[in-house]
Amino acid sequence: MTIQPGNGAAGNGRYYFMWLYSGLMLCLLILLPSMAMPAATSNLDFTLHKQGGGLSAPTLLIIGGIQGDEPGGFNAASLLVTDYQIDYGNVWVVPNLNFESIVHRSRGLHGDMNRKFLDLAEEDPEYDTVQKIKNIILNSQIDIVLNLHDGSGYYRPRHQDSLRGPHRWGQSLIIDQAELGDARYGNLSETGERVIRRVNQRLLDPEHRYHLKNTRTRNGDREMEKTLTYFAVRNNKAAFGVEASKSLNTEFRAFYHLNVIEAFMQEMGIEYRRDFALDPAHVKQAIEKELYLAMFNKRLFLDMTNARDWLRYVPMTPRQPMQVEASNPLLAVVGSGRHYKVRYGNRGVTNLHPEFMEFDESLKYIPVLVDDRYKLVRPGEKIRVRSKFMVIPQEDYRVNIIGYVHDGVDDEAGVFISHENFMPRFSIDRKARKFRVEVYRGDKFSGMILADFTQQPSVDAGVDLAYYPPQAD
Ligand SMILES: [Zn+2]
Repeated sequence: MTIQPGNGAAGNGRYYFMWLYSGLMLCLLILLPSMAMPAATSNLDFTLHKQGGGLSAPTLLIIGGIQGDEPGGFNAASLLVTDYQIDYGNVWVVPNLNFESIVHRSRGLHGDMNRKFLDLAEEDPEYDTVQKIKNIILNSQIDIVLNLHDGSGYYRPRHQDSLRGPHRWGQSLIIDQAELGDARYGNLSETGERVIRRVNQRLLDPEHRYHLKNTRTRNGDREMEKTLTYFAVRNNKAAFGVEASKSLNTEFRAFYHLNVIEAFMQEMGIEYRRDFALDPAHVKQAIEKELYLAMFNKRLFLDMTNARDWLRYVPMTPRQPMQVEASNPLLAVVGSGRHYKVRYGNRGVTNLHPEFMEFDESLKYIPVLVDDRYKLVRPGEKIRVRSKFMVIPQEDYRVNIIGYVHDGVDDEAGVFISHENFMPRFSIDRKARKFRVEVYRGDKFSGMILADFTQQPSVDAGVDLAYYPPQAD
């Protein structure tokens, strides 16, 4: 019975190897700290996703996550990347500006990033990030900049109570001044009022009404002078702060952000399609849809949907960068050495306990019989199985199916396997439907695929991802 790498008759060699290798790793760690465990922090730079096409068409820049604890904004921005198609015009999206703070669910690990756009010391840990986003904002193609926030209470021009009044921010569109001279879309207040009229036609509750808030920053608002939008305005670029109320839950906030964004797109003549109905229930579903993570050039591949708290014996190599690729721009792997955490925005998804080993680069395809169809599956893909599958034996490679219970041999290729042959606790998901199929060459890890026994009445094509390469399936 082989239930886990390193266990069972044939696993003994591997088990021994693992410990030998750990000893080796320890030496490497002491002697050559720089080549030791891969640190998964380099992927915490923000990402820019350019959607649409056509230089002469209008361009909208949307920025989410300048503060790490405002999930309405960064989830809305992320949905634009994963679930919208731009048919005319351009929408550029930075869904994760302060990515490090997002994964730590902190407003700002290094202070408030939205106060760093006037002066900033070069020593500031966020100096490079701020410079990079400033350069994007200044790109001459961009017509309007939206900075998405989740703000407290409900902004109202006049005081109503402690949650509703001029000092609150929720459900407002913020401008620094009414007009911007000759800038494109420079009539900020008129544009803003038109957008608000559109949004207020789609309210779920009259209390959620949007208002325009003019901070009149130029007249001496020392705090607002330091913000991203005022940096844009100082550079003659139309910019708006967009606030959803923190009194609402995340999917409601994201719902309102998307309404505001769509109103801006309509205002600018940008044409778009979206993969879900725009209401909070479907926004929630879209936020919680399937998540995938690949590392080490896709040799390691994990479905993060409903994942168990811990995934153990995850093959990793200290000799290559992790190269994290994710189906969603809010997915990140953080940590190093013994323990990596997978985060999706503010949420923890799972923890990876690595097993360090050598990787083999030779494996191109894994031939598999899935139910009654023969498929060539690349490492980093998922097969959907109705009743059974069999990995076709390949010379020099051996297959280890994690959680597969059987007597005897080392190599688990050449055997039909169905769901009841698995020990449920070795699945990667809590529902015990998804299992790892790992391929080795000698003691080296060559790659893996996932076998998914989830019953999917209509979908066989499998992974439908915005920017993860599609399955061969
Ligand atoms: Zn904010």
